[in-house]
Amino acid sequence: MELNEGKQERYFIVVRRSKKGLSRGSIGRADAETAAGDLIGMVYGGGGSAKSSGTVKKQDTYPLTRHQAQLLLFVSPASRRLELMCNVQLFSAICALAQDDLVVVKHKKDFQPCLVKNLIQIGKKDKPGVLQMLGFELDFVDTQHDILSKTTVPLPFFSAADIVQVAPSHLNTRQPLRDIIDLGLKRKAVSRINSMPALNSRNAKKGSIILNTDVSSTIQSLSHSSLEVGSMAEVISLNGLTVFGVIRWIGVPEGKKNCWAGLELDNEVTTCSDGTFGTKRYFTCEGNKALFVPLTNCKPDSRFLFLPNEIPKPLEPPSITLLEDLNEDVHPVAEQDVWSHLIGRMRGIQGHFNSCYLDATLFSLFTSSVAFNRMFSTSEDSEEGISHILRRDIVNRLRRTGFVPAESVMKFREQLGCKSFATEEKDPEEFITLLLKHVLHIEPLLKIRSCGDLAQGAYTHQIIVEKNQVGAVPSVQQLLEMSFVSSDLKFEEIPSCLIVQMPRFGKKFKMFPKIIPSTELDITDILHCSPRECFLCGHLAEYECVQCLMDHKLQPGKLKQYCTTCNTQVHIHSSRKEHTPQKLTVPDHLPEDAPVQRHQMQLFAVLCINTSHYVSFVKYGPNPRSWIFFDSMADRCGDDNNGYNVPVIRSCPEVGDFLSQSEEEMSTADVSQSSEMVRRLLCDSYMCLYQRTE
Ligand SMILES: [Zn+2]
Ligand SMILES: [Zn+2]
Repeated sequence: MELNEGKQERYFIVVRRSKKGLSRGSIGRADAETAAGDLIGMVYGGGGSAKSSGTVKKQDTYPLTRHQAQLLLFVSPASRRLELMCNVQLFSAICALAQDDLVVVKHKKDFQPCLVKNLIQIGKKDKPGVLQMLGFELDFVDTQHDILSKTTVPLPFFSAADIVQVAPSHLNTRQPLRDIIDLGLKRKAVSRINSMPALNSRNAKKGSIILNTDVSSTIQSLSHSSLEVGSMAEVISLNGLTVFGVIRWIGVPEGKKNCWAGLELDNEVTTCSDGTFGTKRYFTCEGNKALFVPLTNCKPDSRFLFLPNEIPKPLEPPSITLLEDLNEDVHPVAEQDVWSHLIGRMRGIQGHFNSCYLDATLFSLFTSSVAFNRMFSTSEDSEEGISHILRRDIVNRLRRTGFVPAESVMKFREQLGCKSFATEEKDPEEFITLLLKHVLHIEPLLKIRSCGDLAQGAYTHQIIVEKNQVGAVPSVQQLLEMSFVSSDLKFEEIPSCLIVQMPRFGKKFKMFPKIIPSTELDITDILHCSPRECFLCGHLAEYECVQCLMDHKLQPGKLKQYCTTCNTQVHIHSSRKEHTPQKLTVPDHLPEDAPVQRHQMQLFAVLCINTSHYVSFVKYGPNPRSWIFFDSMADRCGDDNNGYNVPVIRSCPEVGDFLSQSEEEMSTADVSQSSEMVRRLLCDSYMCLYQRTE
């Protein structure tokens, strides 16, 4: 079937395993779309010819331009294509390469600076059913002699994935290669443009070019001599795998002669230490993460590109709007796909200009929970309205691509109504109330009855307790119950989402040095007009006694409600004679001795603060170890005026392991011996977010 002239061709890459058996990284062309959101089209095989046709779910794909599809088609294996796309900045730079741009390629296990010569079409001639692949023709640059020599042996054509770095362009007149190529030739350069004299001047010796100082200094900065403490680096480990990490130490270790580097790896490797090498400690990090290698074995981290003096380009993922459906809610990333979609550098929401309060809050609310999705569908904003920006440019993009550029967040911030939200550091609760009430126009999440009066609406609950009312290391369960009892509050109904603010004042003072974020929150006993169990015998309770709360003989700190018999028994004791137990409101017509149903809510995110900086922990699946940590400003490239933040998502299963212990074990744990993640979760919590499970 031939396409009509002028009809927009839509290309895509498969990002999720599909039931139809298409593997991740397959590239195809969509010719039509069904009402159910399936794309009808075909998938290209090796060489760019059509392999199979059929349908694929649109949500399992990511849109590509024709140019992107052609570049990626030449990359093999297919999984490598997705890796390249994940590096949004590098991939956009590769798509916009012009002649004589300086790049670094991986060639025969080495990194080699090259100048871009041409874009080459590879494969059968373009005709319906065939998509020609695109590769690069490059010239090696000899950095030793500042000379670019034309090699006599023809170089292979490089794929987009061979390019690991792109140097900044020094020319304003550059024209991306895709705009100037001609069509039709087979595995051959299709157009050649004379080299631009502004960049290099030809030497008298034929075939070699002297680079000007600008270019050679850039090459210098790309070599591993630019690696220093704090640099992101990669190392080929003994088993041939590439490992990534940050250089924490450089020097000559005891017993060695050369310069070595100590790296803190992104992930654990069993043979690694926690910062010791031999018998000496050079730095400190988590166990199994410190790797010591000769400095010459380190290369700049190829997953992430940073070049000094580069003016940051907008970090837009490639043409996201092509196949985007504005009225669709993208599902949160599935538990098994989090490793490939979310974890790493340049992942999550990119921080910018005091935005961490907002980045961490949005990440907590929307990464794994769908509690708020229904709110988008009720919003009546216009297409360019703020709720659409939130849904399309932040929530859907985060779930679809794993990365939201700072520009999208700024666009959203600027529409928040009050100017200070776009410029200043704010409190997350202030932002949440604004977001839910004025942006999404939703009813208060909580209906709380105070002193038996009518219920009042609220979006978050601030814990208010006295320090002596709970133990030294309280859990959120204890704090919430105490906060409700001491102010005589009850939930009118079970909330769909419960956001609890920890007891701390301002950014600095916290009432408790450590708080245990209960993974399950049982709200049965603070629910109005809901059956409760007698504290002593388990029968239906009819009285509640606040004065019994802290009784040392009766589990101090636990809520106390009693059946009529136990209420009388307990209050016969002389020390409790003065108590004034209150009659509980119990639903009518309750069957005798019916088991009391417990109402539990599940923890799905914890917002933390440390020295004015907000970060977030998110539970991304049912597995107890499925925890990630997000920091929108974990790293920074460039200086204050001319750089950008690097948001990072880390996997932290150790947080899940810690939270699987009993409350007693957690409260007595020595956090100085725990991992940094566990320590931050316990010591810095600011808000705990719970959702209904039933
Ligand atoms: Zn009883
Ligand atoms: Zn009492």
